[in-house]
Amino acid sequence: MVRKIQPEPFRIKMVEPVTVPDQAQREDALRKGHFNMFGLTSRDIYIDLLTDSGTGAMSKQQWAALMRGDEAYAGADSFFALKDSVREVLGFEYVIPTHQGRAAENIVFGTLLKKGDIVPFNMPFDTTRAHIFNMGADPVDCVVDDAFDPSSDHPFKGDVDIGKLEDTIRNYGKDRIPLIMVTVTNNSGGGQPVSLGNLRSVSAVAKREGIPFFLDAARMAENAYFIKAREKECAGMSVAQILRAMMDCVDAITVSCKKDPLVNIGGMICCRTEDMYQKLLPRVILYEGFVTYGGLAGRDLEALALGLREMTDEQYLAHRVAQVAYLGDILEEGGVPYVKPAGGHAIFIDAAAFLPHIPQKHYPADVLGIEIYREAAIRGIGLGALAFATEDEKSGEMMLPRLELFRLAINRRTYTNSHIEYVGESVVNVFKRKDSIRYGLKVTYAPPVKGLHHFLAHLEPFDLK
Ligand SMILES: *Cc1c(COP(=O)(O)O)cnc(C)c1O
Repeated sequence: MVRKIQPEPFRIKMVEPVTVPDQAQREDALRKGHFNMFGLTSRDIYIDLLTDSGTGAMSKQQWAALMRGDEAYAGADSFFALKDSVREVLGFEYVIPTHQGRAAENIVFGTLLKKGDIVPFNMPFDTTRAHIFNMGADPVDCVVDDAFDPSSDHPFKGDVDIGKLEDTIRNYGKDRIPLIMVTVTNNSGGGQPVSLGNLRSVSAVAKREGIPFFLDAARMAENAYFIKAREKECAGMSVAQILRAMMDCVDAITVSCKKDPLVNIGGMICCRTEDMYQKLLPRVILYEGFVTYGGLAGRDLEALALGLREMTDEQYLAHRVAQVAYLGDILEEGGVPYVKPAGGHAIFIDAAAFLPHIPQKHYPADVLGIEIYREAAIRGIGLGALAFATEDEKSGEMMLPRLELFRLAINRRTYTNSHIEYVGESVVNVFKRKDSIRYGLKVTYAPPVKGLHHFLAHLEPFDLK
């Protein structure tokens, strides 16, 4: 197979030195971190693919813009710079900055949901899900069945199954459904995109039923890029035009700006009507700060205003998506099973297929994380039973998720293709010795918060017979 390398569309102006911990340091770090990847420290790691959230590199224009930050408490110039970007790039009249994506979720769900409500989704991200639980409500997955088949190469595995959505609305009744939400790209399902056609169909259902339609738009630019590449009717449009067409389908969005909008911290809510805007504001004051800064410094707002414009750059997106696919190609050559097609921001290894001899209840995705760290001081994260198992309310039985994945998230504009080769080859090395990995994990400490297990759990390996 010929590997296709897309050279980096940037050059490096400043370097961040990293070291490679030796084997003894790695073992020590694992023990001290309770075998949880969130327990490792940056110094323990050579290549950190834990998340693509807030870990990217800003451009020289963004760094320069920090100096323009207006730190006025109310009505700062920097807020209006953000407002202009949101209007021009996304077409929304109103923007509420927040300190990150989950803060936007807290404001939206805390304001709009009540106990017993449900929110239809393609699939919710983990913090999104936890915020809905926190209100005594429940998300309902309506994603297409292909999303659960790691080997299916359906081009839009993030799509909503419209039949499932309509059944959900019929079964629960629209009085219990304050909003419909679609995650673009579908992070929990492997970073898979949602087609424009599908967004338009969901929008038509939402309009017909009179239910507000929201996007969780953390990776809206990558989603738009996939639409351009894979949806025939959109091939002639620019990514910026497709992004606007996506936004035209919805009433409002929540965004973790630490993802596609290319900043290290920040989030936002964007909406169209004064009515929705006013409704959301009281909770912004309670949890974030005044409504024109929402927990961010003026300089953060400036960097975000520029990041929103830079994220639609097609050379940048082409490199990013190609870099993720390149990692996929190296794994493919080595026989490593992963979710196909490669996602926009990450490769999701199918841990259940990688380590089929470890039962799901013993957390094979997290075992894989430990072994990849041992092999090469690379950090990724398990997204399987540890993150998503729930307890059946009646029987107390552990209900396992359908997918047991291990994610390697690629930071934006941060690692070179040579880093990516090292990652790919290291994972292949672990795959070659997979039969000798014969242990499971047990949870020795579990935090008392539903849906947030994996961030705080303490784990301990035990030998499998
Ligand atoms: C990261 C993320 C969030 C939460 O945002 P934070 O900025 O981490 O609080 C919500 N939804 C999706 C799809 C995400 O990827």
